Parts: sequence; structure tokens; C-alpha cells
Amino acid sequence: MYNKKTIEDVAVAGKKVLVRCDFNVPLKDGKITSDKRIVEALPTIKYLLAQGAKVILCSHMGKPKGEVNPKYSLAPVAARLTELLGQTVELANDIVGEDAKAKAAALKEGQAMLLENVRFDAREEKNDPEFAKELASMAEVYVNDAFGTAHRAHATTAGVADYLPAVCGYLIQKEIGIMGKALANPERPFVAILGGAKVKDKLNVINNLLTKVDTLIIGGGMAYTFLAAKGYGVGKSLLDEEKIDYCKDMMKKAEEKGVKLLLPVDTTVCAGFPDPIDAPVETKNVSADAIPADMEGLDIGEKTMELYAEAAKSAKTVVWNGPMGVFENPTLAKGTIAVAKALAESEATTIVGGGDSAAACEQLGFADRITHISTGGGASLEFLEGLELPGIACLQDK
Ligand code: ADP
Ligand code: MG
Repeated sequence: MYNKKTIEDVAVAGKKVLVRCDFNVPLKDGKITSDKRIVEALPTIKYLLAQGAKVILCSHMGKPKGEVNPKYSLAPVAARLTELLGQTVELANDIVGEDAKAKAAALKEGQAMLLENVRFDAREEKNDPEFAKELASMAEVYVNDAFGTAHRAHATTAGVADYLPAVCGYLIQKEIGIMGKALANPERPFVAILGGAKVKDKLNVINNLLTKVDTLIIGGGMAYTFLAAKGYGVGKSLLDEEKIDYCKDMMKKAEEKGVKLLLPVDTTVCAGFPDPIDAPVETKNVSADAIPADMEGLDIGEKTMELYAEAAKSAKTVVWNGPMGVFENPTLAKGTIAVAKALAESEATTIVGGGDSAAACEQLGFADRITHISTGGGASLEFLEGLELPGIACLQDK
């Protein structure tokens, strides 16, 4: 379990502090459509400003692939930060160039600036040490508060920590506090619910979770590889044939460890994947061992919804990653709603990770009754997998 120094554990007054944020906000026609990530970064920024630090903010946005591309400029972020903080946040027109260095050198205590999109330089994602060193040369302290990229070893997420005292901000502190406790020392029963479509990525999480949880619930697209491992036909449903043996191993491991592994007993099938995704669909509820060869499973079935909701309700700690079905379609959202509702109504510590799972909770109106919705999809998954996150491992221990 991580026990990392935070911004409150280092002296920042009068110092130049480089802060890696996750300002990868959605844009439409150059306008920010959700400023959630900016708003979430404010506590860390405000604390540093109130301490009299000189704050140099940085982030990536989109995938400009190492080239300057005005489409991915952080200008809209600088403007929004200026509004939210009620003080000017100037945007440098480069990252470690003349403008950035001049603006950083001119910062006064309690002022903040923003570097241009760090992925405009190919050296960022290569974690180039020279680039990291140049970034570090502008500051005296490094703060990582971008949990969403903490599973990546890039120059601004990890490399720069080789050259500066490195601590975490409030966002990362909260993520590792809540998820770390759930994994290391959970209140039991501890139930994990896995679903979604990224079968390959997510199956690996199961191996680690089986050493921690009392009950593991499988839904969404990944359930069908398990059903195939049980010898059932899965029709046109998502299937990762290479992982069938792995699923068999996991079922065996669950039995040996005394972990309850819950698989769908029935499933909602359609003639095919809806196109567009929210198009009206005709569904049928079939037993898990009787999926017709020409149909595709797109949600857990009605009996399964009840079973899963009940299992979730009996837990003291629940971790959920991945929707139970194609929730983007109202007809195929029932399984996801059933699980989200069970979590919302539960007294347990409930943790949701994964971009689409978080979106589902918000869209369906359950988000405010979940204990913690992680800000990082891939990062939270790697956390659950028991992997070391480079963006956190690089920070100083308490
Ligand atoms: P998260 O972002 O929460 O980690 P994923 O990206 O793995 O989740 O998966 C989310 C996607 O999984 C959603 O777009 C949903 O439509 C899809 N999905 C869920 N169940 C199925 C299924 N049975 N077949 C195909 N896609 C599914
Ligand atoms: Mg996703």
C-alpha cells in the first residue's frame, strides 16, 4: 500500500512548484464541454497558491503525437482556470522553450501559469531524461496530481521526479487512500464486480482480485469467455478464445480460495449490436447455457440482475469496474442500472473505476451516492491488478 508524501508534507512557500494535472477535458468546436477535471484539480492548486507558491501547471490533452497542433492547445483550459480561480493563469506558448522559461521566472508568489500541452513534444511520452531535466530546471518541487495518467511513465508523470523532490496532490492522495485501503485492508464481505468490453485488459485483474475478495461478480462483455469456458455456446457474443483456458484456471483458483465467483445465469440477447448504439432493439432473455448461435449477448439477464444486486447489497466494500451491458442503449442498460442502484442504496464503501462505468453512474443518476468514483480508468484498473503505478511509485515515501 502506498504511503506517499503530499503537498502538505513539503515546504512550498515562495518556491516554484511544477504540478502535473489531468486537464484532458472534452472539447467541442474549441469549447470545453465538461470542466469536471479542471474543477477537481482546484483544491491542490488553491492550497499551493494560498501557501505562496509559484505554480507551474502542466497537462496533456488528446493525442497530438509529439507535434504542435493548435487543435489540442490548452488555451481553453487556461481561460477556464482563470475564471475558476478568479486570477489570471497565463498560458505559455511552449513547454520548455523561451516563453515557458520567461513566464516561469517572472512568476510571483501566489501566481499560477500553465505550460502548453506536454504531448506537443515527442520526448514527453518517451520519458526522455533530457526533457524531464529541462522541465525540472524551471521548478523546485514536483507535484503529481494526475491519477488518470499515473500508470504511464512519461516525463511529466514520472521522469521529472528524478530531479526534484516529488509529492502527490489531493486527488492522487484520495485515490490511493480509498483504493489502497479497499485492497489492503477491506471491510468484509469484499465484493468486486467486473464488466465492460475490454476483455483482454480486464481478465488479468481477476487473478489479483481472487486473492483479495470474498465474491467476484462477472458481467458485461467479459462474461461470455467464462461461459465459453464452462462449455456453453455464446453465439455472436464478445469472446476472447485465447483466454478460455485462463478463465478455466480462474474458476479453479476461485474454488481453491473459497471465493464465490458469480457468472450470469441468464442473459439478454439481440440479433446483433445496435447501430447506432442507441437504436431501438428487440431483446430476448435466455438462459446462460442456451444462447442461440445467431444472437449476441448484450446485457446480463433478469435473474442475474437480481442475483448480482443482492450480492452487492450484502457487501461492506464493493469495487466496480465495467458496465454489465451496452448501457448506452436504454433497453440494454437494465443490468448496469440494477448494479448501480444496488451500490447507491448500500451502506458499504463503494468504489467505481473505469471511464464508462463512471459515465454510466453519472448518466443514470447514481454518482452522488457512490463513495468514490475514480478519475482514472486504466490507472484504477492497474491498481486493482496489483501493478505498480510509475506516477505514484516515483513520489517520496512518508
Ligand atoms: P470502463 O470504461 O468502465 O473500464 P470498458 O471500456 O471496458 O469499461 O467497457 C465499456 C463498454 O462495454 C461500454 O461501451 C458497453 O457498451 C460495452 N459492453 C458492455 N457489455 C457488453 C457486451 N455484452 N457486449 C459488447 N459490449 C459490451
Ligand atoms: Mg472504457
